[in-house]
Amino acid sequence: MSTNITWHAGLTRKERSELRKQQGATIWFTGLSASGKSTIATALEQHLLQQGLAAYRLDGDNVRFGLNKDLGFDEKSRNENIRRIAEVAKLFADSSCLALTSFISPYKADRQTARELHEQATNTDTPLPFIEVYVDISVEEAEKRDPKGLYKKARAGVIKDFTGISAPYEAPEKPEIHIDSVNTSVEEAVVIITKYLEEKGLLKQG
Ligand code: ADP
Repeated sequence: MSTNITWHAGLTRKERSELRKQQGATIWFTGLSASGKSTIATALEQHLLQQGLAAYRLDGDNVRFGLNKDLGFDEKSRNENIRRIAEVAKLFADSSCLALTSFISPYKADRQTARELHEQATNTDTPLPFIEVYVDISVEEAEKRDPKGLYKKARAGVIKDFTGISAPYEAPEKPEIHIDSVNTSVEEAVVIITKYLEEKGLLKQG
């Protein structure tokens, strides 16, 4: 716990987004391993960047190489993994960027914590949009894809605490966007999400 620290108030979120001509938000992808979170988020990131918008994807595995390399996959470590990611995504969103996160994030309570962190208003700042995208797939279908061979290893008991096999996945009840990963192509998913962002005024520049 840090003591003797005070919050330094600089530019407000509104001032920053007016100068940057873009409003920040976090687009939080959740779903089983191999559901397509990274594939869809990467295609979306590319599309947004092509439109001249600031966007950045935080990836599940990549974050574990650096910031979260001290964390495992038990429930407590997964909670801390998501808490740190939520804080980092919030910083990106606060800087007027569209932060895209692709993490399994299997626990409802953790996703709720991430949401609250964004939606909390402070004395100077308005809430940040938090858009939960549920990339929906059954364990059977995800297992058929298994691009990294992880389900096979989990079934063999080589990987412990594997979501969908030996650890739970708590599906979102009311995500802002629900994608049926088996019947929706990557391109269609990008269109669905972009349309939502447009309706919410998050693709405006200037
Ligand atoms: P996750 O990030 O959820 O673990 P990945 O994006 O790494 O999933 O892997 C999903 C795999 O499924 C990729 O190999 C991708 O090409 C494939 N795939 C097939 N159909 C789709 C689809 N409709 N949407 C997303 N990915 C798909």
